[in-house]
Amino acid sequence: MINIDSIDSTDSGSPTYSTYPKVKGATCAIPLNSSNSANLPASGESLESVEMNAAEFFAGDSRGGYNLPSTPYLWLMKRSSGLTRASSIVADVARENSLPHDQVRAALLDLATWGLIELLPTPIYSTLTHRENINQHEINNQTRLSIERSLITHRSPDGGVAEWANRAEHVIAIMGDTRIARNLLPLLTSSGFTKSSVIALPSEPFLLGAMDINGLSVTLEHLGKSKALHHRELIRHSHISGATQLISSRKSDLIIATTPPAPDQIQEWQSEGITHIAVSDPIRAEIELSYFIQPGLTPCLRCIALHRRDALPPNLSALSLSSGRHELPVAAAALVAALLASAVENFYQANRPVSTTSQLINLLEPALAPGVRRWNFHPECGCVDVRRRALQR
Ligand SMILES: [Zn+2]
Repeated sequence: MINIDSIDSTDSGSPTYSTYPKVKGATCAIPLNSSNSANLPASGESLESVEMNAAEFFAGDSRGGYNLPSTPYLWLMKRSSGLTRASSIVADVARENSLPHDQVRAALLDLATWGLIELLPTPIYSTLTHRENINQHEINNQTRLSIERSLITHRSPDGGVAEWANRAEHVIAIMGDTRIARNLLPLLTSSGFTKSSVIALPSEPFLLGAMDINGLSVTLEHLGKSKALHHRELIRHSHISGATQLISSRKSDLIIATTPPAPDQIQEWQSEGITHIAVSDPIRAEIELSYFIQPGLTPCLRCIALHRRDALPPNLSALSLSSGRHELPVAAAALVAALLASAVENFYQANRPVSTTSQLINLLEPALAPGVRRWNFHPECGCVDVRRRALQR
């Protein structure tokens, strides 16, 4: 698929326009043929169609786009609502313009190839328009889903249908009794990761206190409330799907540690092969977000701790250990939670890429490019053996 942005070769950010896209006969990301009538064409998010004159129109956005003949392209764009099958649209446009079927089908494929329409495998919306009793709850769900889709669609050729559906499959455990955790929980459940939960440890306080107020999901009115009850309510009030059984008894496939985990926890996750990501204690104004640690594939958190220890004089090596619970100011806690939620979305859509680079976020100037730190396996860490065994298989 051609990315319209890629035709903009200037660094000035000024828009570029192309009269007819050069690529003819290129293959589309999703094949469209007569036997595959379930494709539902939908106009791309953030794209506009502007009629220039009776014969020509512009399709694109403020950064660039294409001038195209209105017949049959504009006719096709206008009918691409994500609810009507490709075969019906092609038949209608061919009949109304007295054009050969094949020509109209080829034009529809052109639009998909150029990224102006998406070919959805299934409707992203439920068949809302075909039902008599639409309640407010469903309308709210559709509105929220369309906003979530508006971002996913920029990296998924199917309008985000598969990625959205896939999110509900993952069982995610958030560890750490923190402001970040209680922001992250509703962010994940609202973003379609409906099987997310905060795992409390017996050593943690049972009730919400002043240090838990994060300005978003915990406010003054929640002081003294049971954390477990509040977490359940956050899930119930934030998810989109309408499902009631959200917490799965299945083992977590991802753990997000919002504070540095204890050595026995790291050991447990490593031996069970559970992917995890961790946030460091803040040091000065910086926190370090680890990469997604995949046991056997990437250096583990213990490897990182051992490398840190090695870098310190022997009599100061205790400085490399976590110093306990630190809370972040509300904006920083919200920022870290949002970064984690975006990282999780990206990890699952990008087919679990293997990275060994952690990111250092400056909480005072978070828009600066993060510092990066690449980590290696530590020879003293037992996870090297896990890796060796994995490589031998
Ligand atoms: Zn290790």
